[in-house]
Amino acid sequence: MTTLLPPADLAAVVGPVLRPGDPGWREEIAGFNLAYTPTPAVVVGATSTADVATAVRYAGSVGKRVAVQATGHGLMSDLDDTVLITTRRMTAVAVDPAARTARVAAGVRWRAVIDAAAEHGLAPLSGSSSQVGVVGYTTGGGLGPLCRRYGFAADHVTRFTIVTADGAVREVLAESTDPDDVDLFWAVRGGKGSFGIVTELEFGLVPVARFHGGAVFFAGEDAPAVLHAWREWAPTLPEDTTTSVALLRLPPVPELPEPLRGRFVVALRFTHLGEQGPALLAPMRAAATPIMDVVADLPFAAIDAVHMDPTEPMPSWDRGVGLAELPGAAVDAVLAQAGPGVASPLTMVEIRLLGGAVARAPRVPNAVTGRDAAFSVFTVGVTAASSVEAVAGAGAAVVEALRPWARGGLLNFLGQAGPGRVGQLWGPAERARLVAIRERFDPAGLLATNVVIG
Ligand SMILES: Cc1cc2nc3c(=O)[nH]c(=O)nc-3n(C[C@H](O)[C@H](O)[C@H](O)COP(=O)(O)OP(=O)(O)OC[C@H]3O[C@@H](n4cnc5c(N)ncnc54)[C@H](O)[C@@H]3O)c2cc1C
Repeated sequence: MTTLLPPADLAAVVGPVLRPGDPGWREEIAGFNLAYTPTPAVVVGATSTADVATAVRYAGSVGKRVAVQATGHGLMSDLDDTVLITTRRMTAVAVDPAARTARVAAGVRWRAVIDAAAEHGLAPLSGSSSQVGVVGYTTGGGLGPLCRRYGFAADHVTRFTIVTADGAVREVLAESTDPDDVDLFWAVRGGKGSFGIVTELEFGLVPVARFHGGAVFFAGEDAPAVLHAWREWAPTLPEDTTTSVALLRLPPVPELPEPLRGRFVVALRFTHLGEQGPALLAPMRAAATPIMDVVADLPFAAIDAVHMDPTEPMPSWDRGVGLAELPGAAVDAVLAQAGPGVASPLTMVEIRLLGGAVARAPRVPNAVTGRDAAFSVFTVGVTAASSVEAVAGAGAAVVEALRPWARGGLLNFLGQAGPGRVGQLWGPAERARLVAIRERFDPAGLLATNVVIG
């Protein structure tokens, strides 16, 4: 470990330094999840690794915790009285087509990588929404529509630059042999923001230019038929196929196509990388009468069509769990909480099929959770239409109803949770290793993160 570097003055920061009430303050702290309004003591609009290091050293010298925000898609606390580093100005993307890698700065969203990689017939392992930040998503594991073929995004990371709590800048590579770097390379890929602030990330791209996929929508009343058909069909799919199914209670907004507007529907999501797409999907198309079918041969740049996630900021609350299996009784348990005839405040209850490459450890092991689950269940509710208490209660009830089949879960889909519940995502040995690494790199608890591993 390095010793603490000398304190820094924020005057050295190139980007804006804002305090409450300053012009631009509100825009600078705004995040995608409007359920939380960050109330930091000061915001540093970082433009570089040097700005991040200066902000971390300043925070250490004035005894304040330091937090980081790229897009606010993962905002889960008010970050009160912190030094908040916003990375949105750090937008460099460099694709190396020969090496099939991308190197991105901390503020990059997936859309920029998707577009840059597509020029070379390549794709990143982005998730359901291209608006999500690359670093927050990847350090939390990162499970997307190609996951069963290629695994988690974190499995493809080859190197990163990180500013640790002592203010030091470290280059950490897959090939690193220094014991501290080996530990960081393992922990940051899956353990998220507890070990430092990542300022650059390099990862592998995959040779995917097009896919066969999208979504088939059914009326909510058909949810029992669709979900039971899906639970039998999904595990039979080859690894080049990824799927999920979601109960959606959609708002009556003009942005939604007419068949979905203001309705309770079931969305079957499908992504296939071979020639068998229509044949594989046929049994599900026959499970009930589709009300909308937008599955097609598409360029990877159209990957957002699979999940059709919201793009406008909104207040939301979420919670998830992994499942060892999905027997009929588990589907019935979900339907009893959020199926037809239930006045659920949950906007979405989603079940993703895992397995395939998701279940296999990467070449260089990492701390990603959820590998041993067969399914991931995720609940989310918009807390503008219903109270936080109602949404939280309904989400917790779904998770509780699935307890007999629960096995671990995905850090990115855990939702707000205390250290105990976060820590349970790992086995005892891995959890102890993560805590030891965090205590070694951040003994004073300088880093304010919403996923505290305990
Ligand atoms: C609409 C939507 C769709 C999603 N789809 C998926 C999906 O398909 N698959 C999936 O796996 N997840 C998904 N997620 C979850 C998402 O990956 C996490 O919420 C992720 O943390 C968001 O990262 P961000 O940088 O965009 O958000 P932010 O709120 O800016 O950051 C969230 C957290 O990420 C960490 N972080 C961010 N930047 C850094 C950094 N530079 N260094 C260290 N830590 C950092 C910090 O802990 C921070 O608190 C989705 C979320 C939303 C809202």
